[in-house]
Amino acid sequence: MLKVGIPRALSYYQYFPAWKVFFEALGAEAVVSPLTNKAIFAAGNSRAVAETCLPVKLFFGHVISLADKCDYMFIPALRSLGRKAYYCSKFIGLPDMTRALVPECPPILDPEIDLNKGRRGLYQTIYSLGSHFSSDKNKIKKAVEQAEKAHLAYRKEMSDRGITPIQALDETHRSEDKSYLEPDVSRGLSIAVIGHQYVIYDDYVNHRLISRLRDMGVRVFTPEMAEQQALDVAMTKLGGAPHWSFEADIVGAGEYYLEGKVDGIISVAVFGCGPDSMMIDMVRHRARGFRTPFLHLSLDEHTSEGGVLTRLEAFLDMVKRRRRVCA
Ligand code: SF4
Repeated sequence: MLKVGIPRALSYYQYFPAWKVFFEALGAEAVVSPLTNKAIFAAGNSRAVAETCLPVKLFFGHVISLADKCDYMFIPALRSLGRKAYYCSKFIGLPDMTRALVPECPPILDPEIDLNKGRRGLYQTIYSLGSHFSSDKNKIKKAVEQAEKAHLAYRKEMSDRGITPIQALDETHRSEDKSYLEPDVSRGLSIAVIGHQYVIYDDYVNHRLISRLRDMGVRVFTPEMAEQQALDVAMTKLGGAPHWSFEADIVGAGEYYLEGKVDGIISVAVFGCGPDSMMIDMVRHRARGFRTPFLHLSLDEHTSEGGVLTRLEAFLDMVKRRRRVCA
């Protein structure tokens, strides 16, 4: 059975269930890299130029960890999943960067996903991807349909049950990370954590941010716990038509949870990310209007666990004091 490597990084958190279903329906096995760890970071960091953002460095590390465990590596070139809304250029260049920086990588399956070219173009791309595994067009068509269903079910499950991708993925492929399965903290402070999935759900990058908040008795809300349509509406209200594909997760989620009257907002981004710096400023400004406490954590490979913890504790103290005063 052919094995397809799927790096546990970047768009993994958004699309893994669909990819897994697609490849399995075509008789291949999806092999996922381990949770991010020091060795994965060191490997990725050794190949990327210093200015590369941390999530992309980690992506290379995940590819390296899978290189000898699969026949193909799946690295889509994500360009656009909405009309005139684009992914960051790093996503578009990911297959080429990987070829250049990780020569030991097995052949890369690199479909270009660009909805601006219309659905017909997208299906042609996917059929050509499926043809690596089957020449039966009907089989590929069924695999596409099953993958679409799996993606919708994954998104719906998160918003219906108010769970994170990690919890939903745990049920998909038994992730070894159980730290998100926490007790009910419904009477604690309600804090929304906004940012890219590959930042807020990778514990190596954020020093276990969500688990820590839950340990502190906080009820955590993340973008996936809201319905996609509600995020889109909130995003349009605040920023108009999106320019970035992930604007709903930052601008939309910020506005949605501010209107939902959470006790505070924590935005998390990596140092040097251009798109995030603009979007986060919009939410920060809006939070000031709502008089809702706002904390921005900018992370990089040098961010210490102690530094994150100190800032979180100080922020939560401030939110608690404010809640007492306003009660
Ligand atoms: S959006 Fe920012 S963090 Fe994400 S890949 Fe692009 S530069 Fe890196």
